Amino acid sequence: MPGSRWTTPQIESLVDQIVHLSKPLPQIDIPGKTRAAINNQRKRLQRAGVLNGSFAGREVRPWTFPELKRLTAFTAEYGFSASFIAQMGLLPGRTKDSVSKMMGRHGLGNPAIKERARQACRFDPPRRAEFQRFLLGEGRSLPSIVIARKWGLAQKTVTAYRRSLGIQLSWREARSSDEYRRQQNKRAAAFVAHTRERWRQWRERKKAAWEKLRQQLSQRPDCPPARVCQACGEPWYAAREFFHVRTRRSPAGVKTSYCRICRLCRAERRRSPATGPACRAIAAHA
Ligand SMILES: [Zn+2]
Repeated sequence: MPGSRWTTPQIESLVDQIVHLSKPLPQIDIPGKTRAAINNQRKRLQRAGVLNGSFAGREVRPWTFPELKRLTAFTAEYGFSASFIAQMGLLPGRTKDSVSKMMGRHGLGNPAIKERARQACRFDPPRRAEFQRFLLGEGRSLPSIVIARKWGLAQKTVTAYRRSLGIQLSWREARSSDEYRRQQNKRAAAFVAHTRERWRQWRERKKAAWEKLRQQLSQRPDCPPARVCQACGEPWYAAREFFHVRTRRSPAGVKTSYCRICRLCRAERRRSPATGPACRAIAAHA
C-alpha cells in the first residue's frame, strides 16, 4: 500500500529533527509516517545532500568471492567462530555481526555451536535446578568457560547464573580463567602470524621461479610479447603463467584478455581486498 506523498512541512520537520535535534531514527516522529517511511525519506534526503552530513547512513560493502572463500576456510577447515574471526581481524573491515550473518547465509559454522545458540538458555525447570546444584557444588571453582562448554551455554550465561546465585569467582579464580583466554588468543595470534609467514614464503618462491621462467622465455624464438604489471611494474610476459586470463562472452564470440596486474599482485589483492579494488562483487545472499 503506497503511503501518501510527503508534504513540505513534513519534510521540513524531518530535516529539523535530523539536522538540528540530531535525533536517531526511533525518536523521529512525523505524524502519519511509519518508521520505514521515515527511514527511506531520510536516505533520499541524505543522497540529495540536504542533511549536510548530519546523517551519514551506512555504507554497504558487498562481499567478494575471495572473502567468502576465506570465510569458508576459516569456518569449515579451522572451525573459527564469527567473534573469533572478527576479533583477530582475519577479514579486515568485517564486523562480528556481518561475519555471523554471512555464515548463516552460506550454512557455515559449527553445527554444535549453532544448535547451542538456538537452544540458548532454554533450560526447563528440572534442568535449571540441576545446573544450579552443579554450580554450587562440584562446579564451584571451575572457570566459567569450562562450565559453558560442558553445559552447552555461553560463558556470559554462566557468569550471570553465578552472579544471581551470589557465587562469583574470586579474583584469583577469575584471573586463571582470564589466563586461559589469553592463552587462547596467543595461540590464535600465532596461527595468523604463521599463515602470513607461509604466504610470504610462497610469494618469494613463486617470484624466484617466475624470474627464472622470464629468463628462459627471453632466449626462445617464440617468446611472447612483454607485458608490464600495472601494480608492481615488473616486466613479465603476456602469458598465462604470469597473468590471469579473462574470458568474456559476447554475441560476437568469446573474447579473451590478460588481467592488468600479474598473478602475484592479484593474489595479494585477493588476500587483503582493502588495499585494492574488489575483484568481483557478489550478491549478499546466495
Ligand atoms: Zn605485479
